[in-house]
Amino acid sequence: MRFAFGLSVTLLSLVVSLAAAHAEDKKPGVEKLYILNCGEGVAGDISRWSPGVDEGKSKDFVDNCYLIKHTLGWFLWDTGVADSIAAMPDGLAPPDPKATHWRRPKTLAGELDKLGLKPSDIKAMAISHTHADHVGNVEMFPAAMLYVQKAEYEWPGTNNAPRFKAEHPVTKLEGDHDVFRDGSVTILSTPGHTPGHQSLLVKLPKTGALVLSGDAVHFTSNWEIRAVPSMNTSKEQTQASMQKIADTLTREKAQLWINHDKAQRDSLKMSPEYYE
Ligand SMILES: [Zn+2]
Repeated sequence: MRFAFGLSVTLLSLVVSLAAAHAEDKKPGVEKLYILNCGEGVAGDISRWSPGVDEGKSKDFVDNCYLIKHTLGWFLWDTGVADSIAAMPDGLAPPDPKATHWRRPKTLAGELDKLGLKPSDIKAMAISHTHADHVGNVEMFPAAMLYVQKAEYEWPGTNNAPRFKAEHPVTKLEGDHDVFRDGSVTILSTPGHTPGHQSLLVKLPKTGALVLSGDAVHFTSNWEIRAVPSMNTSKEQTQASMQKIADTLTREKAQLWINHDKAQRDSLKMSPEYYE
């Protein structure tokens, strides 16, 4: 009897501790999202992004990277302008004075370090597109799986140069992609700014759904008038992608976070604060 009683107590305590452990189990999905400062700049003439509107007006731009903690690992969206710009006292002036003059007040490596992370902790990443203010630090993560549209990967660069190192692990996409197979992080194909431009739908447990714009749109005022920047590779694709984003915002009750919009970023929490 004593033995049986002892056994049942042991069993009971095991059941109780298992139940407690189960209650503590993290729900699979996205846990946190950090906005990292990946650059600050001044655009020389914003009519470049809204042809015919605000000609000759300059505008402060920001450049963000977004770091997502999923229960399965860290995922980085965009890599900003190159960290090497941080060492340039006057920043990097663009060849076209109407474009953006970038500075790097903080490095991406430093932003990760502040969170106790090394680049090798980032197992997967995606870039919205291959302009220099988004792919400046891709090779800081040489072993991270890179998710990119096939159309962007194969888009010839200057002098036909490839856009990525051939040895960088890559998953070439043809359309939308559910990164963790649970609907929490979905790459949306939104071509037009470039041939394989993509945006990101993220579902956070408390904040709710967000669409990270990439450069499908550059600032709130040009989103409102659906302006198509002069440098975009396809006006038709750009307009269709903007409509796709608008439909996604409605369907998912999502917020639109515009990467280069300084006024919007100034209203959001920056790393090391985060969104849950
Ligand atoms: Zn950009």
